[in-house]
Formats: sequence, structure tokens, C-alpha cells
Amino acid sequence: MIETPWGILPAIPIYILTAILGASFGSFANVLIYRLPAELSLVTPPSRCPSCESRIAWYDNVPILSWLFLGGKCRSCKAPVSIQYVLIEAASTLISVFAVWRFGFNYSGLAYGLLFIGLLALVIIDLRHWLLPFAITIPLFFVGLAGSVFFDLLPWQAALIGAGVGFGVFLVMMFGGKLIFGREAMGGGDVVFGAMAGVFLGWQLTLLMIFIASLLGTFMALIMLILRKGVNGRSVPFGPFLAVALVVCIFAGQALVDWYIGVLRP
Ligand SMILES: [Zn+2]
Repeated sequence: MIETPWGILPAIPIYILTAILGASFGSFANVLIYRLPAELSLVTPPSRCPSCESRIAWYDNVPILSWLFLGGKCRSCKAPVSIQYVLIEAASTLISVFAVWRFGFNYSGLAYGLLFIGLLALVIIDLRHWLLPFAITIPLFFVGLAGSVFFDLLPWQAALIGAGVGFGVFLVMMFGGKLIFGREAMGGGDVVFGAMAGVFLGWQLTLLMIFIASLLGTFMALIMLILRKGVNGRSVPFGPFLAVALVVCIFAGQALVDWYIGVLRP
């Protein structure tokens, strides 16, 4: 049994509903991953096969199942359809089921599920295009803000201060990097990501996230230096490190802060 907004219900149908929703979110994440960097509209034109341009019917666009049924090929031209579509849909399904299991079938489960699926899309887009699109970070910011205003994600003051700190630190890093190094170490995408993360984390954990992401980034830069891949300029985007650090802070941030305070004051 599981607690839902409609009362206590059997868990299995709720998890099946969650999985269907998660797969649909994954399908939409695929649309974001392909269309946002190309600056294409999210609604028009309807999905087409990139090889033969034939329109994809709704029954060939069912998340996961259509890809399996068609053997990963376009119905018209038999061109292979990237396995990435089905992997993103499967990952989103698992993420959603996990979010409901961890946070409940309620607004928290929905908000964290959307956040993690959004982070997945952001990581893939940033790795390929060095972009953290506002079209993903701004809606997620409002998902977090609504969670603190209307639900019990965080007290709304904590969420707003967190957003301000995240926004401010990245803004300073952006202009500071420009002043000191003469090039942009951060972009506007990072600044809005900071505000989005802050609304979910509050200010202490936002600072911890930036610290962890910087450690991971430095570690990666060292590895690439050793492997002689060159670290001049930004050879790896910062977004994936931020995403990993954000997830670490959501699940372990408070424990890390408590542990650190314990070390300082034994
Ligand atoms: Zn085709």
C-alpha cells in the first residue's frame, strides 16, 4: 500500500502509473535533447524520421515499446533509430519509480523526479553542445519554488535565499573569471543553474554543491592533464559536475555538513 493524494492505495498500480508517466517524461526529455540545442520548436513540426523525413505515427512513438517492437528501425525506411531514445526513456522510467519510492507519490516525488530527468537532459546537452538551456533550468526553478510555496519541499524563505546565493555566486564567478582570466569561465546557463539548484537545496547545500562540483572538475582536469588531453580553455563542460554534485547534496548533503561540523567540534 502507498499513500497518495487520493488516500492509501495499492502500491503496484501506483508504481505502474508512475512508470508510464516516467517513460512519457523521458520521451519529452528526448525532444528537449534534440530540439533545444538546434533552437527548434518543441511542438512543431511533429516527430519525423531524421533519415527519410516521414512522419512518425503515435503508435510508433510509444516510449520504449515502439522502439522494441520496430527493432530499433524506422517503419518506412528501416534506418536505425538511435538507442539513445530508448535508453533515456528507460532511465526516466527508473528515475520516476525511484523518486516515488524515495519521496512518495506526492509533489515531492514529482518534483525530484522532474529534477533528475531534467538533469539527465542537461548533462547530455552540455556534454554535446556546452549549453545549459534556460528552457530546462527555468521551469525546474519554478517546480522547486512551487514546492516550497505550496508544499513542504523547503521553507520558501530558505528556497529563495538558496536561489539568490546560487545565482549570486555564479554571477560573481562569471564576471570574476572574465576580469581575472580574460575569458568566460562560466556562462549564463551556469548562473541560472545555480538559482535552480539553490531553490531545491537552500544556501548551505548550494555552496557545498559548488564546492563538490569544483573538486570534481579539478580532479577531472588533473586526469586530463596527466593523459595529456590538454586543459586549455574548457575541455570539459562544468554542467555534468554540477549535476552530480546537486544529486549528492540532495541525498547526502546534510550528512556531509553534519560530519564536517563534527570534525571541527569533536
Ligand atoms: Zn525513416
